[in-house]
Amino acid sequence: VAERLINTLSEPYNLGGYTIYSSASIGIVTSEHPVSSASEMLSNADLAMYEAKAEKLDRPVVFDRVLREKAQRRLYVENELRDVLSRNELTLFYQPIIDLETEELRGVEALIRWFHPVGGMIPPDEFISVAEEMDMIIPIGNFVIDEACRQLADWRNRLGEHAPENMHVNVSRKQLEHPTLISVVEQALQKYDLPAGCVHLEVTESMIMHDREASIATLNGLKKLGVKLDVDDFGTGYSSLSCLCDFPIDALKLDREFVKKSDRDREVTLIHALIILAEKLGLEVIAEGIENTEQLALLQDLGCCLGQGYYFSRPVSGKDLEGRLCS
Ligand code: C2E
Ligand code: MG
Ligand code: MG
Repeated sequence: VAERLINTLSEPYNLGGYTIYSSASIGIVTSEHPVSSASEMLSNADLAMYEAKAEKLDRPVVFDRVLREKAQRRLYVENELRDVLSRNELTLFYQPIIDLETEELRGVEALIRWFHPVGGMIPPDEFISVAEEMDMIIPIGNFVIDEACRQLADWRNRLGEHAPENMHVNVSRKQLEHPTLISVVEQALQKYDLPAGCVHLEVTESMIMHDREASIATLNGLKKLGVKLDVDDFGTGYSSLSCLCDFPIDALKLDREFVKKSDRDREVTLIHALIILAEKLGLEVIAEGIENTEQLALLQDLGCCLGQGYYFSRPVSGKDLEGRLCS
């Protein structure tokens, strides 16, 4: 019945001379799941409906316990996230970015970690999107920028030539759209007396394509400060190659899915073409997710300059990284 409803509702219809297309999301709950009230049953159906909506599915979703657990977990994360900064539970880990030719460390990517006293380590994939929805990403993002700059300046002061050259910092879409991003970055650079060129901000294709004009303006403002701009997870978004010409970027981070599938001819051809394309456009290429020697050898063969991945190192604490830098 639900499928028939969806099919019927998705037929175009005429409204005041215009052809209108609409869709419907349907959630279903059955009496198989014991509930104590009608409203609880409706709320379960609602959850299933929201799942159908969120996943943009054109089929109905039937409620099950996993959906309820997912919703409860999300609520927990949301509640705990509210005062995460004042509880000092966030910290940055660092993953080395390696010069593939010399195998020396060129920079590090700062990756946020949330150590919750009860919930344990909550990974960024689980809480960054929640933080974005509740606008907590701005204070969290500001913390990340400040802390990454502080750490780099500290290493430069104490370790001299052993310090990483570059610090790569992930930025979320909401941050890019926020009017304060440029001044937050500028202030952090001043506060820690860092040359702007050693800070790389990582943005994704879909982020910059979301509001093209506004993104170009912000990215140009950041470029004026002197910071570098990387396109993260390159190749996974739904943008076009034109973003390589229109946006003032310095490097491409080749998504780890390419590297993962680099045992297939087509992927190898694509990686090779992207490396040549980047080179012609004067962009650096950083391969993500290098996990074994075969992948490393292939990327070296193809002339890829930089890479990161578990083969070299997992993301580690600042202290652990420091130990390695000095050894
Ligand atoms: P990303 O920026 O693409 O970061 C790379 C992710 O790949 C990291 O996951 C890293 O641990 C993982 N990774 C690195 N090498 C390998 C490998 O060889 N194999 C595999 N399977 N994975 C590898 P992580 O730290 O869980 O971060 C996930 C995502 O969360 C990041 O993807 C980034 O989009 C986001 N994120 C992390 N930290 C921040 C942050 O401070 N701010 C914002 N806005 N987003 C962040
Ligand atoms: Mg990144
Ligand atoms: Mg990435």
